[in-house]
Amino acid sequence: MKWQNLFSQLGNQISFLYLSRYGVHFLIVMFCKNACHTNSNRKTQGKMSCSKRPLEDDFLKGEKRAKRGTESDDEFADLEDEVMFKSNELETTNSDMYLDSINRKILNFELPFECSSTLATTNVFVCLVCGKYLQGSSTSSPAYLHSVDSDHHIFISLESLKFILLPEQKVLSKERESELKDIQLLIDPKFDERMVEKFDKEPMQVETYLREQYTVGYIPILNKLSDLGLKVDNTAVSDNALFYALSHLSKFRDFFINYNYSDTAPLSNQVSRLIRNIWSPYLFRGFTSSYAIENYLSTCKIPPRIRSDLKLFYMWITNTLIKENKSLKPIFTGKLTADSVDKKNLTTFLTLTLSMPQQSVFKDGTSSSIEQHDIETLITQRNFHIKKAPEILTIYIDRTNHMRIEGIDQELNMSIVKFDPDLLEVNNTFKYRLIGNITYENKVQILNKSQSKWMEFDGVSVKEVEKELLFINNCKLQFWELLI
Ligand SMILES: [Zn+2]
Repeated sequence: MKWQNLFSQLGNQISFLYLSRYGVHFLIVMFCKNACHTNSNRKTQGKMSCSKRPLEDDFLKGEKRAKRGTESDDEFADLEDEVMFKSNELETTNSDMYLDSINRKILNFELPFECSSTLATTNVFVCLVCGKYLQGSSTSSPAYLHSVDSDHHIFISLESLKFILLPEQKVLSKERESELKDIQLLIDPKFDERMVEKFDKEPMQVETYLREQYTVGYIPILNKLSDLGLKVDNTAVSDNALFYALSHLSKFRDFFINYNYSDTAPLSNQVSRLIRNIWSPYLFRGFTSSYAIENYLSTCKIPPRIRSDLKLFYMWITNTLIKENKSLKPIFTGKLTADSVDKKNLTTFLTLTLSMPQQSVFKDGTSSSIEQHDIETLITQRNFHIKKAPEILTIYIDRTNHMRIEGIDQELNMSIVKFDPDLLEVNNTFKYRLIGNITYENKVQILNKSQSKWMEFDGVSVKEVEKELLFINNCKLQFWELLI
């Protein structure tokens, strides 16, 4: 760099420094910036970039929406760490002045954790009076301004779960915090070992603070307002069926209930959050929402071909989760060969696709009957041999059809696939029982192990169904659990 350029830059920075109302702070940051330049740690980056603080307002208004994404999150983290640092030093208060203003009826912690004003994803607070998600606690932050403008004064930090009073900038004492424990548990439900062990053994009936009863683990998953009848989003309904089935696979569920959130496993964080909500005994309402995970998936750039196909989407989800957590691999993957003698050409598989035989038309050509096929026969026709059995055998029934019956195109082969939910024997060796069954209508049927009954979730409600009648549905994706 030429000397004149260096002086020119230095001159600009000095004049900026002079004008800045954060001048002294800026000088310290300039010093730290050089000292910490090589550290790529996210937290350290945040601290060393505090020099952007004076630009915050313009930056937030002008560029935040356009720059939404990973890079912009890092930019905001630069600003937020400084605010966080300040909030840790806030004075504690034992005041109960604002507790009565909390409106539990409108609290919803199932939205993406991002500021509704700046879209920042760190240092987000929720106003406990109106439920708005707002960033920061400094005097220029959206949360602070909201407290002044709206006369709303009590907030919870989505990161520390501390209750903060604004504009006073005080933190509620431990004693007062204990009175609001239900709100902390709604955001971050806690599960002890005994509770998790009981999930499949004893039904857990709980009551919300509004005295509504629900059975833990068997609540509907909604997606925004769409499932309340305003607008149905088919992708979300299909996804919810898949999430519902996955969240009832015991090993998978327990892994994500005990999961520690990680910066390097974003999908796992979302799946864990959803599963914890489904199995939470602390809900304020007897349902949960997949809005946060749907919002995350919309940023993943999943090809439409995969996104719109349940089997491919399931494979994308499980593959991504396995990449993030190697210990999930034996749950979903097995190894097979095309020949019982061949022991070398092992193929790893995630799903077993069973094709339906060609549909036949009645000889008189006037009508067709519903054909029936036994699932074990369909498996035998595939002519493979499992060498290493997955703990969860995922079977996809491919009903693709190109028939014209009675002059009408039949896109799907609606023949019945018969199966015994209690026992599926593969290669005369491996025994499985059915745990989850997703149909072509996006209903999902789940074995409630604690009550030995089958529950059907159809997008807005959960009801009991007869085990003997499961097969009459057009099954699409099935989850079978290995019997030991
Ligand atoms: Zn508010």
